[in-house]
Amino acid sequence: MQHRLHISGVVQGVGFRPCVWHLAQDLGLTGWVRNTAGGVECLLQGEAGALAQFEPRLRAEAPPLADIHHIDRQHEAATETLADFNILESGTGKPTTIIGADSATCPDCLAELFNPQDRRYRYPFINCTHCGPRYTITRRLPYDRAQTSMAHFPLCPDCAREYHAPADRRFHAEPTACAVCGPRLWLESSDGDPIDGDPIAATLHRLQAGEIVAIKGLGGFHLVCDARNGAAVARLRQRKGRDAKPFALMAANLVSVAQWVKANSAEQSQLDARERPIVLLQKQPGADTTFPNIAPGLAWLGLMRPYTPIHWLLWHEAAARPQGTDWIDKPQDLVLVMTSANPGGEPLVIDNAEARSRLSGLADAWLMHDRDIVVRCDDSLLRLENNQAQFIRRARGYTPTSIRLAHSGPSVLALGGYFKNTVCVTRGHEAFLSQHIGGLDNPATCAMLREVAQHLLDILQVKPERIAHDRHPDFYSTRLAQELAAQWGVMAVPVQHHHAHIAAVMAEHHLSGPVLGLALDGIGLGTDGQAWGGELLRVEGARFDRLSHLAARRLPGGDRAAREPWRMAASVLFDLADSDSIVQRFADQANASGVAQLLQKGVNCPPTTSLGRHFDAAAGLLGLCPVVSFEGQAAMQLEGLAETASDAKPWPDSYRIGADGVLDLKPLFARLLDHAHEPALAAARFHASLAVALADWTQTLAKSHNLQRVALGGGCFLNRILTHRLRQSLHERGLTVYEARQAPPNDGGLSLGQAWIAQQEF
Ligand code: ZN
Ligand code: ZN
Ligand code: FE
Repeated sequence: MQHRLHISGVVQGVGFRPCVWHLAQDLGLTGWVRNTAGGVECLLQGEAGALAQFEPRLRAEAPPLADIHHIDRQHEAATETLADFNILESGTGKPTTIIGADSATCPDCLAELFNPQDRRYRYPFINCTHCGPRYTITRRLPYDRAQTSMAHFPLCPDCAREYHAPADRRFHAEPTACAVCGPRLWLESSDGDPIDGDPIAATLHRLQAGEIVAIKGLGGFHLVCDARNGAAVARLRQRKGRDAKPFALMAANLVSVAQWVKANSAEQSQLDARERPIVLLQKQPGADTTFPNIAPGLAWLGLMRPYTPIHWLLWHEAAARPQGTDWIDKPQDLVLVMTSANPGGEPLVIDNAEARSRLSGLADAWLMHDRDIVVRCDDSLLRLENNQAQFIRRARGYTPTSIRLAHSGPSVLALGGYFKNTVCVTRGHEAFLSQHIGGLDNPATCAMLREVAQHLLDILQVKPERIAHDRHPDFYSTRLAQELAAQWGVMAVPVQHHHAHIAAVMAEHHLSGPVLGLALDGIGLGTDGQAWGGELLRVEGARFDRLSHLAARRLPGGDRAAREPWRMAASVLFDLADSDSIVQRFADQANASGVAQLLQKGVNCPPTTSLGRHFDAAAGLLGLCPVVSFEGQAAMQLEGLAETASDAKPWPDSYRIGADGVLDLKPLFARLLDHAHEPALAAARFHASLAVALADWTQTLAKSHNLQRVALGGGCFLNRILTHRLRQSLHERGLTVYEARQAPPNDGGLSLGQAWIAQQEF
C-alpha cells in the first residue's frame, strides 16, 4: 500500500519539499516529493500508522510561509518498493501555483545576522526559505532564481551547497546570497559620489545628525530621518511639499515606544507579524512632544517594526553592535520616520538612477544596493477594529496572497477607480488584489497601473476573459479597460462604484445575496449621472437596486468642494437658511462671497448624496480644516477632535427619514452649530448622532425590504468612532453585519468588488 498526495496552495518557493523530506525521515517513510503544475505531489510508503500521521503533521508543521489550500490523498497498490525518500526535480507542465509575498527577516536569519562567527554576520541581504523578498523581485513564473532580480548573482560554492541540500534552511531559497556572491550595499552623497566607510555606520551617523537619507527597501525607497528631531522632520515635510499627511514611524519593538502609544495584544501581534504592516495605534499624552509633527491633529500614530536586514542593522549599530538577539526585544532609543519616497504623490521610486534624479533635493544621501526591485510595493497600513485587522492600504507583505471566493468563474481583470487605486485579477475561485497603486491624477501613476496589471497577469499566467471598470467615463482606469478589452477582444464590464464597494465585502464573506448594502463613501458616479456616496442598495450578485440615499447636499464649485471643506460648510449654512453668515464666517477665504452667490443662484452646485461631504461640512463648520491637502483629511481631523471629548451622547431629533425613505441630516447640522462653541464635544456628539441616524435608517429599509444581512462598504468606514457605534447599533437592532477585512473598505477594495461582479455577469 502507498499514499499519493496532491497538495495545492502556496506550497512552492516556501521550503515545502524540505519540510516533507524531514517529516518523511522522521516517520520512517520512503518515497519522493516534487513540484508539479498544480502544487506539490508526494508518494509515501511505510507502516500504516506512520502513513496516517503524515497528513495531520504536515498541516501542523508546514513551513511559516506556506498556505495549504487542499490535500488530495489516494491509496494505491505499490508497484515497486522504494528504499529511501528523495526530492525529485520538478515535473513538467505549466505552473499554476503562485509566488509568495515579501516577508520580514525570520528569527533564524536574525540569529545569524548578529553572530560574529556566522559567515553572514552583518550581511544586509541575508534571507532563507522562511523569509525575505519574493513578490518584489519576481518577474514571472516559474518561481526560480533565473526569473528574479537575483539572476545576476551566481551562487558561490558555499551558497550553492546550502541551496542543493534538502536538510538546509536555504534548500531552493531562490533569493539566497552572501557577502561573497550576493548584492552589496553602499552609501552615496547627493552628488552621486560614494561615501567611504561602513555604509550602515555612516547612514546611522547622518540620521543622528539630523540628515534625511533615502534608503532602498523591499518595494521602493524610503525617506528616513530621526523621528525625535523636530528640525529634521520639519525639513522632510518642507522638502516633500509641506504635506500635512501623517508619517509612519519605525521602532525596534513596541516596548521602545510603549510610553507614547497604546497597544493591546491584538495590535502587538500585528506589529510582530511577518507581513510587518504599519499599525495605527492610539496616541498617548506626550506623543506629539516626543515625536513632533509626525501626525499633526490626529489621534493615531502609525508604527512598524524593522523588516529587512538593512533596517535591523541600523538598530544593531545604534545599540553598539551587540552579539546575539537578546537586545531586539529590549527598549531601543532609535526611532525613525520611514516615509515612502514618492515625490508629489507619484509612485514610489524603485530604481537607483530614478532615485538619484527624482529624489534630488529631497535626500542628503542615498543608501543604495544593486538588487533590483521588479515591482513597486508600498508599506501596508492597517488598524485593529474589534481586534480584527482592517486595511487602510494593502500592499507589501500581503500582495499577492489571494482572497478565496465562494465560486469559480471566468478570469477577470478589474482596474478599479481613481483614488487609492488597486487592480484585481481572478483565477478560478481566487481573487488576487494588487498592491496599492495610488491616485490616477498623474501620468506616472497611470503608467504604474499598466505595469502592475501586466506584472500580476504575468506572475499568475492569466489571460483575462472580462475586464471590469468603474462607470465613470473619464477615469484613466476606465479608458485603459476599454482599450485592453478592444485589444484582447474581450468584454468590458462597467460597474457602479458603490455596488462594487458592497460587492467587495460580499466577495470575501462568500455572500451571494440578497444583502442590504450600506455604502458610506466619498464620491462615486451613480447610474443617474449624479455623485453618490450615502446609499442603501439591495445587492444580489451582479444586480443591484438603489433603495434609498441621503438627502442631497450641494457642491458649490463642483469638484473644488471636495478639496475645500469650507465650501461644504457654506452649502449647509445655505440649506439652514443662514446664507448671510457665509461671508462673515469664511472671511479668510478669498471666494466666500462668490460661493454664497453660486448657492443663491444655484449655479455650478451639483447635488451629492456623499456622506464624506457631510463630514467635510461638519469639519468646516467647526473651523477645523477649511482646505484639505489629502483626501479624507477633514474627516480624520474631526474624528481626532471627537476622540478628545469625554461625553458623546447623541442629540435628539437630529435627522428625518422621509416617506420616500430618504435620510435627511440637515437637522444634525443645526445641532452642531448650536454647540460649535465646544468643538470637541460637538464633534463627538456629531459622530454619535450620525451613528443613530444611520442605524435607524438602515433598520427601516431592512424591515420594508425584508432583509436581515447588512454589508458595510466605502471609505467612511475607516472612521473608527462611526464604525464602532454603527456596528453596535445595527447588532442591537437584530441585523447581521459584514465588514471589509481582507481588503480595505475604501477605494483600495473597489477592484475586488468589480471583479466579483464581472465574474458573474454575462
Ligand atoms: Zn530567514
Ligand atoms: Zn554566497
Ligand atoms: Fe469609494
